[in-house]
Amino acid sequence: MKNIIQDIDTKYQNNLICPHCGYEDKEPYEVTGDEENGNTECGNCGKYYQFTRYINISYSTFKTTLREINQEEKESEKRKEESIKYLNKFKNKT
Ligand SMILES: [Zn+2]
Repeated sequence: MKNIIQDIDTKYQNNLICPHCGYEDKEPYEVTGDEENGNTECGNCGKYYQFTRYINISYSTFKTTLREINQEEKESEKRKEESIKYLNKFKNKT
């Protein structure tokens, strides 16, 4: 007989997955806790579980010409500010 709990894949998921029943929490950012670790109650079975949140930073690149560089630098500054704001959003939830 298979162990049901072991069949639930709770690692590196896009949303919180309850390790008790497998319920997927679609709004993990609403959960209290610090940036990396927290505790939450399952919205389905009501049991508590711990989670670790991973924040990934990713990069995109694209071809450009010398003439466009100044403009791109401004854009890149803007994007930097936006990503800082984005990361602060997580910090504000603590
Ligand atoms: Zn559950």
